[in-house]
Parts: sequence; structure tokens; C-alpha cells
Amino acid sequence: MRYATTRRPVLTLTTGPVDAYPEVLQALATTVLYDFDPAFLAHYEKVARKAQRAMGTGGVPTILHGEPVLALEAAAASLIAARDTVLNLVSGVYGKGFGHWAKRWCRELVEITVPYDDVIDPEAVAAMFRERPDIAVVSVVHHETPSGTINPVDEIGAICARHGAHLIVDAVSSWGGMPASPDACQAAIYVTGPSKCLGCPPGLSLVAVSERGWAKMAANPKAPRASMLSILDWQEAWRSDRPFPFTPSVAEINGLDRALDLYLEEGPEAVWGRHALTAAACRAGVRGLGLDIWPARDAIASPTTTAVKVPDGIDGAALLATSRERYGVTFSAGRAETLGKLIRIGHMGPTAQPIHSIAAVAALGAALQAMGGRADIGGGTEAAMEIINGAF
Ligand SMILES: *Cc1c(COP(=O)(O)O)cnc(C)c1O
Repeated sequence: MRYATTRRPVLTLTTGPVDAYPEVLQALATTVLYDFDPAFLAHYEKVARKAQRAMGTGGVPTILHGEPVLALEAAAASLIAARDTVLNLVSGVYGKGFGHWAKRWCRELVEITVPYDDVIDPEAVAAMFRERPDIAVVSVVHHETPSGTINPVDEIGAICARHGAHLIVDAVSSWGGMPASPDACQAAIYVTGPSKCLGCPPGLSLVAVSERGWAKMAANPKAPRASMLSILDWQEAWRSDRPFPFTPSVAEINGLDRALDLYLEEGPEAVWGRHALTAAACRAGVRGLGLDIWPARDAIASPTTTAVKVPDGIDGAALLATSRERYGVTFSAGRAETLGKLIRIGHMGPTAQPIHSIAAVAALGAALQAMGGRADIGGGTEAAMEIINGAF
């Protein structure tokens, strides 16, 4: 059996795009209504309110019609005023990338950078505020997906609030897979997307904006309007009695609606629980194989991604290709600075199932062996199963 030429892997255990829920795919195939049809206007408002319920936030979130990079760039363009000093927190590839957008709009960019297997220490943020009381905007990535690490955004948010600074949070790959909410971290702008833990295809962004966040954007003369980068244009668009600034992604809204139903019907705590258990089983399994996880400590390891160090002398890309070809199991590679140094087992939304850890660990171990590396497949799968059984 060779899977290299099959169109679909048997298991897509990636960090996004994820293997979408079949129910979501069905919803995507339903009638595409005219966007100003009264039925669609009502449907859109219902979906936005459902997203509000799921996100547990005071305001109705804004839906932007592109995958979350759109919303992140829009957040930088809209919230950061020309006179602002911005503190960008960098513990990985996405944090570093946000700095490039922030720099375009601010007066001065300051950064705290830590090694990409670690996370931001809230104490360092507090110390930076003492040094630079002029900081007006802070940006942080909750889950640095290319490293599989979780930043303490609630603690960072509390520090920002004490200093009256506005916080931008990239929670794209954490929200929906672990306890996380815009209000808990007191974000001015909180960006997530249905294409990770909600199990939709990439195509939309969910943006929760606080009242202070809206006020700051409205007061910023440079904040985009009549633009694809505008958040302000969409502020009231969720209301069925208001027009859309341009055509929304109708099919994607149908998919999001179904994904929100699945999330709310299963119950957020149950969803977070299966993410956490899958992650714990993956970590145990990886160690049982005789490999190491990438994050410096388990306490900062993500519940939605398990990043595994590629052993010395092994080509990470070839390891992924071997797993795909022999076993039909697809993992994610590292990205930018982490490319080649780690591989990532994604367990987000539909794929956050504990039993997938067994397939992941077995495929990873066997692919490693096929390349001449060492892996204890029996030890790995038993360790993962022990964690799963420990939950009963
Ligand atoms: C997936 C993801 C995004 C969305 O961006 P892509 O690079 O297009 O996938 C943004 N931020 C984080 C942390 C993500 O994991």
C-alpha cells in the first residue's frame, strides 16, 4: 500500500487547515442566498449572535470575510494610531510577523522576544511598562502554533488594563480548543477564526472588539474605511436592518453556523476536555517513543498542537513525507524559524480525539524507524493509551 498518490490522507492531523467536520461540509453545500435577501439578513444576525454566545463576550463579534490573517492585519491598521508606541510580544513566528504590520502604523515599536520554545513572562511586560509608560498598544499571540506554546494572555491583559493600554490578541488556534475568551484577557481586539478549533475550512475571521477598542478605532483618522482591511465598516453589519459594506461569504457563514451548533451542543467544556486529553496522550506517547516535545515545559504546551523535536540527523520534511506515503497520516511541518526543527501533531476541532494520539505516535515512530532513526513504538502507544485510560 502506498498513500503518496492518494488524493486524501487517511488522517489529517495538522494545525490548520484542519479536516473539517462532515456536518460543516454539508452546510457549505446548502443554498447560497442573495446577501440582501431578508432570510439571509436574519440568518447572518443569528449566526453573529451565536458566535457571541460561543465566545462568551459582551459585544457581538465582527465577522471578516477572509481567513484570520486578514483580521490580524486589519487590527493593526485600525487600532494603532500614528502617535502610538506599540509593545509587540514575540515568542514565536506569528508574534514576530505581527511586528511587521504594527511597525507600518505606529510611531515606535518595542518588542520583548523570548526563545521560541518558551513564552512571555508577565513580569517582563510589567517591567517594560515601568520603563516605557508611553506604551499605548500591546500585541500578543495566545497560541504560537509553529511552536505549540501558550502565552499567559489573561495575566498580560490584566497588566495592560492597569496601564490603560489596548491589547490585541491573536487567539486563532487556541480559542475553541481550551478555556479562552476575549473578556478574560480584556482584549481591545481579539482575533480568532473558525478554521482551526471550530473545524471549518479557512475563509472567515471572528473579531471581538471591546467598547474601548471601538472608541479607539473610531478616533483613529488612519483606521481603514471603505477597505478590505476595515473593521469599522463591519461594526453594525451583523444587524439584519443594516447593509453589508460588500458581499459576505455566504457559504462560509452557513458552515460557521453549523460549526457553532456543534461546539455549543457538545458543550465548550467537553470540547476543551477532549483537546486537553488528546494533547496529554500525544505528549506521553511522544516521550514513550523516546522523543522530546518542543516546548520547554509541559505547563506551556498547547492543548491543540503537540510540537515534537526532530531528532538529530533526521530530515523533518522527509519524516513527514514518509508518514504520509506509508501510513496516510499527515502532520504539519514547523514554520519559518521552527521549520525542520520540529514537526507538529495537530489536534484541533474534529481531530482532537484521544484515540488519534495512538495513530499519530505509531505513524511518527514507524516513519522514523523507516528512515533509520530509533523509536519505541510499543512504548509510545502504551504510554498514550495509559493517559487515555486514566480519564476513566
Ligand atoms: C492559523 C493561524 C493564523 C492564520 O494564519 P495562516 O498563517 O494563514 O494560517 C494566525 N495566527 C495563528 C496563531 C494561527 O495559528
